[in-house]
Amino acid sequence: MTMLKRDDWQDLLREVDWTLTYADDEAIFPEWLSGTGKVPREAWATWEEGFKVSYSEYVATQREKEGAAWGVKAALQRSKVFDTLDEGWKSNAKIHFGAVSLIEALASYSELKMARFGLAGAWRNMAVFGTLDEIRHTQLSLAFAHEFVAKDPQYDWALKAFHTNEWGVISARGLFDGMMMSPNAVDLAIMAPFTFETGFTNLQFLGLATDALESGDINFANMISSIQTDEARHAQQGGSTLEVLMKHDPIRAQWTVDKAFWLSARIFAVLTGPAMDYNTPLQHRKHSYKEFMQEWIVKQFVRTLEDYGLKKPWYWDEFIEGLDHWHHALHLGLWYWRPTVWWKPQGGVSKAERKWLNQKYPKWEESYGDKWDMIIDNVNTGNIGLTLPETLPWLCNTCQLPICSFSGNPDGTTTMKNYPLTHNGYTHHFCSKPCRQIFWEDRDTEHLKTVVERLLAGQINPPDVPGILAWMGLTPDVMGDDAYKYKWAEDYLDRVKKAA
Ligand code: MN
Ligand code: MN
Repeated sequence: MTMLKRDDWQDLLREVDWTLTYADDEAIFPEWLSGTGKVPREAWATWEEGFKVSYSEYVATQREKEGAAWGVKAALQRSKVFDTLDEGWKSNAKIHFGAVSLIEALASYSELKMARFGLAGAWRNMAVFGTLDEIRHTQLSLAFAHEFVAKDPQYDWALKAFHTNEWGVISARGLFDGMMMSPNAVDLAIMAPFTFETGFTNLQFLGLATDALESGDINFANMISSIQTDEARHAQQGGSTLEVLMKHDPIRAQWTVDKAFWLSARIFAVLTGPAMDYNTPLQHRKHSYKEFMQEWIVKQFVRTLEDYGLKKPWYWDEFIEGLDHWHHALHLGLWYWRPTVWWKPQGGVSKAERKWLNQKYPKWEESYGDKWDMIIDNVNTGNIGLTLPETLPWLCNTCQLPICSFSGNPDGTTTMKNYPLTHNGYTHHFCSKPCRQIFWEDRDTEHLKTVVERLLAGQINPPDVPGILAWMGLTPDVMGDDAYKYKWAEDYLDRVKKAA
């Protein structure tokens, strides 16, 4: 039997469009769902994915990946690995399970939108595989976390987190609903597969896998590496869509990338930054968060942008400056407001860790040293109550994260800044100029109130910390506490003796 060469059969499988005559194209691919905009309808016929897959190849590869992932899990189940894992590291797995598991589910629905409303047959075909990928990721994440629920109820937040009003979850919900659920197929492909999955998912799934392996969490590394191989394939939908969009509407392409990049960078600063620079045990840190960001995002993603003819986002200097500050400020907040999270933040400022932070971030001491010293002194004099929150920090009306952005002054010092905007008689507050601008552009579709606004509107009762924690769904068995039970602060007992 003569076999056709791959090049001869491949297009038969992927170019499955025909000209619709029984129905209007606009009825089948409505603008609000498909979003062709200024791109002529026929231009989408040129949409081409770089790496072409047939169904039989897809299932054969996926079967192998599933077999490997579950095989490793089964082997480790019989070991005592979990009991030897560092408490700070475990927090990283908990952050990931809680913040990501149901976003994998959300991603399967976003792939479904492209599978139905994507503007080329080849694109819809790729998105069907993407849907199957994301179903696999959801089930892997939930099953891997479930194994530990009996040992530690914080793992239960893999399923629970997105059903609560926990503040970090509200922020993530705002980001991913806006990135994956509400946009039309074209904007969705630019924001999720291109910006988020090409740039940021790499950092989370490969960068964190490195730290996981170093920390001995083979199971977690095994799971996220398996997931990442799918992401790398279906993320291609982004570049293929961007290529068509750039020919007809580069301004829309640039704005959509810029917006998704900024909001992704914000959420990474609260979840991945502290995970890498504080929770991961010092001896297991391969690189700092900033170094990972410089390699995966600054170097590689910017090269990708340039390949497609895009410019660096307009706020680039502000983003780079933020690599020295955002996640340190947010970590300080995470630790201080630790009862409001479903993991145990690792203080991460023992003397050795502090030395490392100052090596990696020369501005760390002047910006954060005195604040941590005050916390340390309170811990060491038995005043733990003074290290716990009595109220909430002001939150940004766009990214929903605490307003703790630093801004450089002419004299070289830095100060915290708030960026307000009064619109229709109401003053909104933002962490940064880009968050303010994104709000302004999207103001007609932005309805999300911050936790603080809800508190002030009387929606959280009683309006105190116990009331807030109950409203967020944080029961005493899961609310966060210091990962090492404050042991790291003992390094500084000499400060207490000196003061006495
Ligand atoms: Mn996924
Ligand atoms: Mn994905």
